[in-house]
Amino acid sequence: MILPLRLVVKPTDSLTIVGRKWAGFEQQAALRYGRRTMENLMTIPGGPAEPVPVPRDSAPRADGRVDLVGLSRPDIAAALLAAGLADARQAKMRARQIWSWIYNRGATDFAQMTDLSKPLREGLEAQFVVGRPEVVEAHVSTDGTRKWLLRSGGEEYEMVFIPDADRGTLCVSSQVGCTLNCRFCFTGTMKLVRNLTPAEIVGQVMLARDALGEWPTQPEGRLLTNIVMMGMGEPLYNFDAVRDALKIVMDGDGLALSKRRITLSTSGVVPMMARAGEEIGVNLAVSLHAVTKEVRDEIVPLNRKYGIYELLEACAAYPGANNARRITFEYVMLKDKNDRDEDAHELVRLIRLYNLPAKVNLIPWNPWPGAQYETSDPAQVQRFSDIVYRGGISAPVRRPRGRDIMAACGQLKSSSEKLSRAELDRRAEEKQAAL
Ligand code: SAH
Ligand code: SF4
Repeated sequence: MILPLRLVVKPTDSLTIVGRKWAGFEQQAALRYGRRTMENLMTIPGGPAEPVPVPRDSAPRADGRVDLVGLSRPDIAAALLAAGLADARQAKMRARQIWSWIYNRGATDFAQMTDLSKPLREGLEAQFVVGRPEVVEAHVSTDGTRKWLLRSGGEEYEMVFIPDADRGTLCVSSQVGCTLNCRFCFTGTMKLVRNLTPAEIVGQVMLARDALGEWPTQPEGRLLTNIVMMGMGEPLYNFDAVRDALKIVMDGDGLALSKRRITLSTSGVVPMMARAGEEIGVNLAVSLHAVTKEVRDEIVPLNRKYGIYELLEACAAYPGANNARRITFEYVMLKDKNDRDEDAHELVRLIRLYNLPAKVNLIPWNPWPGAQYETSDPAQVQRFSDIVYRGGISAPVRRPRGRDIMAACGQLKSSSEKLSRAELDRRAEEKQAAL
C-alpha cells in the first residue's frame, strides 16, 4: 500500500534522472545478466577520521521548532524538560510514550498521541515536530525496485528499496555525496556536500515505512526487513550520526530491526572499523574490489592510505564476526581490471591467510554516464565465482537491481550535473589530496 504523503510514484520504463533520459543500459543488463543470476537481491550493497571538515547538522527549521526524530529517549526527555513541558519526574515517562508513538506507530502529528494530555499535545505542537525528509521524486523500476530522491536542509540525497521474495532491503544514504573517489562509483564523482544527521538517516527508514504502509511496527510480515548502509556516502566518515541513527533503528520498542538484519558497508576506513563493531555491532561489508595494491590504489584510492593487509587485519579483529555472521567482501567486476582468474585465486588466498569468516558478493559493475570502465563478461564473472567457490568461500553473483532508474549500486547521485572527463579527474585529484 502506498500512503499519499506528498509522494508521487512515477513508474518509469527508461531512466529519468532529474529530467534527463538515459536508456539502453537496462536492456543490455537484462540481456547479459537477466537469466543467469544466482541470487535475487542486489548486493548487500558508507568523527574522528573525517578527511575534510563538514558541517554535521542541517540548517535549523525555519519555524524554530525542533525535530524529535533522531533524538535518543534521554534527549527527548531533556528536550521536554527544557521546554517546560514536563518536570524531572515525568520527563522520562513522557519521552517513552512519545518515542513509542513516533517509532512504533509512525505518528507525525502530536494530536494522534492520545495518551498524552491535551495541553501537553498542544505544547509539543508549538515547540516540536516529528519530521520526514521531503520526497522530491520517486521512481519504480521494472523489477520493482523503488528509488526516492529526498531533500532536507536544502540538500538532496537518495534511498532505494529492493523488494525480494524473502526480504525487502532498504539501501540508506549516510552523506550527501562522498569525500572518497572510487573510480567506478557515480557517487564518487560528487563533491561531499555534507554529512546527514541522525534524523535524516532514521528519516529514510521512517519514510520507507510510511510508503510501505508498515505502521505500527509488526514483528511478522514486514516488507522492510533489512537495512544496508550502502547508499550515498561513506558511513564510517559520518560515524557518530550513523551510530546514533542505527541505535534508534535497532531499538526494540520502536523500529525494532535486529542488528543481524543491518549491514554497514565501508570502503575501508580502517581506524573506525573496531568502533563500528563495538558501538553499533551490525554486520560488516567491505568494499574490497581488488587484490593487488596497484589495482586497488587505482580503483579505491583510499587504499593508498589504508592498504589491503591493514584492512584485512581490521576485518580479522572485527568484533562479532564469526561463521554465523560472516564479513561480506564486495567485489565489483570490472572487465580486464580486476576480473582475471589469478585475481580470484589471490582473493581466496588472502581470505584464508587471515582466516576470515567471509563471503564474497560479486557485483557486475553498474554503468553510469562518463565512466571509464566496462562490465566484465558474464562468462568471466561465472569463472571467477567458481574459483572462489572451489576455494571454499561462497561467492554469489549479484543480479543488478533498479538499473533502469539508476538505483543500482554505485549509480546514486543527487545532482544532474554533467561533468567532463577532465573535471572528473580534477575532482578525484582534489579529493585524494584532501585525504
Ligand atoms: N561507501 C560505502 C557504501 C556505499 S557504496 C562503500 O564504498 O562501501 C555500496 C557498494 O556499491 C560498494 O561496495 C561500492 O563499492 C559498490 N559500487 C559503487 N559503484 C558501483 C558500480 N558502479 N557498480 C557496482 N557496484 C558499485
Ligand atoms: Fe564513496 Fe562508497 Fe562510492 Fe567509494 S564506493 S565513492 S566510498 S560511496
